[in-house]
Amino acid sequence: MALIFDIKRFAINDGPGIRTTLFMKGCPLHCIWCHNPEGIPATPVKLYTKKKCIGCKSCVDVCPQKNLSLTADGIQDLGNCTSCGKCADECPTLAMQIAGKEYQLSELMDIVEKERQVMEESNGGVTICGGEPFMHTDYLCELLDELGARNIHRTVDTTLFTSAENAQKVAGKCDLFLVDLKHMNSDKHHEYTGVRNEQILSNIQLISEMKHPFWIRIPLISGINTDEENLKASADFLASLPTPPEVVNLLVYHDIGKGKHDRLGTTYNPEDIPMSPPSEGEQQHALEIFISRGLNTKIGG
Ligand code: SF4
Ligand code: SF4
Repeated sequence: MALIFDIKRFAINDGPGIRTTLFMKGCPLHCIWCHNPEGIPATPVKLYTKKKCIGCKSCVDVCPQKNLSLTADGIQDLGNCTSCGKCADECPTLAMQIAGKEYQLSELMDIVEKERQVMEESNGGVTICGGEPFMHTDYLCELLDELGARNIHRTVDTTLFTSAENAQKVAGKCDLFLVDLKHMNSDKHHEYTGVRNEQILSNIQLISEMKHPFWIRIPLISGINTDEENLKASADFLASLPTPPEVVNLLVYHDIGKGKHDRLGTTYNPEDIPMSPPSEGEQQHALEIFISRGLNTKIGG
């Protein structure tokens, strides 16, 4: 069984062609700008949207833990949730939702097979992302084997924050990696994501030496990683690899994670570090730095 928190059909930014993207739960990183904070915990989590709530109290009444209460400020969580999902099942307006559902492999394959024609016609396939798929390497391998047996193109979207052994094992089972590169300075990487970057850089080097196809995805965030020093260090590192990435995607930051944190009852950017989308000028400057090193780079992904 895999815990999946979202399934995106007809995805056009998750690798080549049109894809079905499976979002696995659990991530060892805690990026302060995370777009999908509901994917960070390895267990299901509740999302509550106050503006959709009609105050019917169905969720309060059904909760076996007596964990919810209706107040003037909407539904409040009293801290005893077991993530059973009953409140979400009862909610008539989708104000209460649960992110994280277990799927049998066969259930996932039924979903994926519905899109076979569009995947084949567009040279697309399936992308597995998260969270971090390497949090569940055994299940990931099983999933990749099954997709391979069905002749479906397999992409793994990952931080590569895992052991070299795992990276090698999964490389043998997927057609393409999409790898995040967030910051070249390991102290800063730790400050913004909660982990250091040595293992990530080493695994990028490893898959490059293996000549395994990979794309690099860099979130461009003013205040975090768009300074000259970091952009040049990132581009120099990628250009120095024995086999460069097929594509470098510079992904312009948006604060869409903020609304999700509100719905989760968690705090976006708890350190209050100034972050903003890069200006057009900053984007073009970053693009030029990567292109000048011979890297096939584009804004967006
Ligand atoms: S998920 Fe279950 S335990 Fe948690 S609040 Fe909802 S009904 Fe109660
Ligand atoms: S069941 Fe949904 S709409 Fe009703 S009180 Fe709970 S969250 Fe609000």
